Amino acid sequence: MKKRKGKKEKRYAALEQLSKQIRSEIKKPKPEARSLGRLFNELYSYATKDHLTGVFNRRILDELLGREMEKSIRQGLPLAVIMMDIDNFKQYNDTYGHLQGDMALKAATKTIQRLTRKEDFVARYGGEEFIIVLPNTKLKKAREIAERIRKKIAETKIRAISKRIEKGFEKVTVSMGISKLTKAGIQYMLDQADIALYKAKEKGKNKVCVIE
Ligand code: GH3
Ligand code: MG
Ligand code: MG
Repeated sequence: MKKRKGKKEKRYAALEQLSKQIRSEIKKPKPEARSLGRLFNELYSYATKDHLTGVFNRRILDELLGREMEKSIRQGLPLAVIMMDIDNFKQYNDTYGHLQGDMALKAATKTIQRLTRKEDFVARYGGEEFIIVLPNTKLKKAREIAERIRKKIAETKIRAISKRIEKGFEKVTVSMGISKLTKAGIQYMLDQADIALYKAKEKGKNKVCVIE
């Protein structure tokens, strides 16, 4: 617990430092566009990214989804989402410790990023829950992508920092629910993905379920 608080404090200190730099750059008689651009990018990253995994945070997800929905309607293209949740993660944390859990979260997001295209995006939706947005993707293709990610995560060896992990690595599995955008809108699509995820858990976890 102490270590996490330390991390948070460091993050605030870094943010404070960043806003100081921005203020001092703006106050200059001739602010430098390049410095301002760099500082803006850093600030944007603070505001939109999850600091542990580097994927988008929930705050920006709504806006990004709104944009994707408009694009998809305008261009007449499909849009699919995957809701992913790590299986038995409470037990993983309880057994190996929170920091080892953090390693698992990082490893899982890295795998997602490796197996998705650059037009797709990932956001941390909750503690150990992620949303993967797949523009221009039909459900059949979304299932293939989800299966690929699920399999890869299940076989990925996570770097061990906990001494309780004897063989050097401890893996995790994930469950996934998939749905598509309909006229009912974004919230409905997310609700459907959540229902599909619940089904995947009910079927025994480490599974992918789709709602047509
Ligand atoms: P299920 O298979 O049904 O999803 O069970 P679960 O144990 O994964 O689900 P539950 O909701 O009971 O527990 C989620 C756990 O995720 C509890 C919480 O400590 C952990 N968690 C949430 N955020 C973080 C984080 O940032 N780091 C770490 N290490 N653990 C986290
Ligand atoms: Mg879970
Ligand atoms: Mg959960």
